[in-house]
Amino acid sequence: MPSALLSRLDALPSLSPEERLLLDSVKALTRDQIAPRAAEYDRTAAFPWDNISAINALGLNAMFVPEAYGGAGLSYAAYLACVREISAACAATGSIWATNFHAVKPLIDFGDEAQKRRLLPRVAEGAIGALAITEPDAGSDATGMTTRFTPDGDEIVVSGGKVFISNGDVADLYLVFGKWSELGDGRNAISAVVLEKGTAGLRVLRIEDKLGLRAQGTAALAFDDCRVRRDNLLQGPGDGLRLLLAALNKSRPSIAAHALGIARAAFDDAVGYINERRQSGRRIIEFQGIQFLLADMATDLAMCEAWLWHVAVLVDSGATDIAIEASMLKLRASDLAMRIATDAVQLYGGYGYIKDYRVERLLRDAKITQIWEGTNQIHRQLIGRSFIARR
Ligand SMILES: Cc1cc2nc3c(=O)[nH]c(=O)nc-3n(C[C@H](O)[C@H](O)[C@H](O)COP(=O)(O)OP(=O)(O)OC[C@H]3O[C@@H](n4cnc5c(N)ncnc54)[C@H](O)[C@@H]3O)c2cc1C
Repeated sequence: MPSALLSRLDALPSLSPEERLLLDSVKALTRDQIAPRAAEYDRTAAFPWDNISAINALGLNAMFVPEAYGGAGLSYAAYLACVREISAACAATGSIWATNFHAVKPLIDFGDEAQKRRLLPRVAEGAIGALAITEPDAGSDATGMTTRFTPDGDEIVVSGGKVFISNGDVADLYLVFGKWSELGDGRNAISAVVLEKGTAGLRVLRIEDKLGLRAQGTAALAFDDCRVRRDNLLQGPGDGLRLLLAALNKSRPSIAAHALGIARAAFDDAVGYINERRQSGRRIIEFQGIQFLLADMATDLAMCEAWLWHVAVLVDSGATDIAIEASMLKLRASDLAMRIATDAVQLYGGYGYIKDYRVERLLRDAKITQIWEGTNQIHRQLIGRSFIARR
C-alpha cells in the first residue's frame, strides 16, 4: 500500500498496550492459520472447529466478559478490531465468533448476579452462543414472533421455533426471545430466556445451504416444550423488547466491523491485482477510469472506518442512546462491503469470477451484511424517521 492512509486508520482506536498485543496475536493467527483455511471451509461448508479452538486458545471470548466473571473485560473498540481482523481472513469464522458476543452481551448487560456467576465463566472459556429472534413469519418485524414462554412453577416451558439462527447447530447457550403467555400477544409480552445445550425438546430441524458464510451453520430450530429454569429469564416478563433494542446497539456495529473486514480484504486484493496485471502495455491501475473507481472505494472505506471507531468511542464512553449512529454504521459498512467486493471482482476481470481468487468468495460473503440485523431498508427507515419532529 503506497500511502500510510489505511495504517493510520488502523491506529485510530485508542487501544491499551495489552489490547494492541492481543490484536497482534489475532493478526498472526489470522495470517498463519485462519486465512489459509478459508477457501477450503467455504468449499466444504464444514464447521471450522480448528479455527474456533485456536480462537479459544487465545482466550478471545474472555475479552468481552467482565473480569469478575472470569473474563478480561477489554474495550469494545478492541473487540471490533478483532472482529474486523478475523472477518477479513475468513468471514464465516469472524461471524461465528461475533455471534458469541451478540448472544451473550444482553446477559452481561442485563443479567442478574446469579445468572452471570453461573453462565459467564463458561462463555469466557469459549462457549458458543446463538441469538434466536427470527421466525418464519417474523423477520423484519420481530414483534410478530409467536414462540411462547409459559411459566410453570420453577420452570418456563418454551414452545415454538426459530429460523436462520447463526451457530444454531453448535451453540452451548441460546438467548431466545419469545412472548410471555400471561402477557398476551403484543410487543409488551416479549421476554428473553437463556436455553442451554442439551435441553430436552430443543431440535435442529435444518441447516441452510447458503450463498456465503458457508462454514457457519444457520439453523432452523424447534422448541418442543423445552423446560428451562425460571431463573434463566433475563430481567422480568415483558422486558424482552427493551433488552433486544439495547442489544442491537452493540451488535450492529459488530456487524459493520465484520462487513468492513470483508471490504478491506476485497480492496487490498484488488489494489494488489491491478498493480500487477497489464493490458495494452500498461498496468491496469494506470488507466484513469480505474483510478476514479479506486478513489471512490478508498475514500468511502476511509470514511466508514473512521465512523466505526467513532461509534466504538461512544460505546466505550458509556453512551447508550446510539441507535441511529449504529444504524448508519451498519447501513453504510454493509453497502460498502457489497460494492467494494463487486468492484473487486470487476477489477479482476474474468479471473474475478472464478474460485481461484478470494474476491469471488468475498462477494458472496458480503451480501448477508445487507440483510441481517435489520435489512438496509429497515435501517434507512429507522434513520429517516428519527428526524420526524415530535408534536
Ligand atoms: C445467513 C443468515 C443468518 C442469520 N442469523 C440470524 C440469527 O443469528 N438470529 C436471528 O434471530 N436471525 C438471523 N437471521 C435472520 C435475519 O435477521 C432476517 O433474515 C432479516 O431480519 C430479514 O427478515 P426476513 O428474512 O424475514 O425478511 P422480510 O422481513 O420478509 O423482508 C423481505 C424484504 O422486505 C423488505 N421489508 C420488510 N419490511 C419492510 C419495511 N417496513 N419497509 C421496507 N422494506 C421492508 C426487507 O428489507 C426485505 O428486502 C439470519 C439470516 C440469514 C440469512
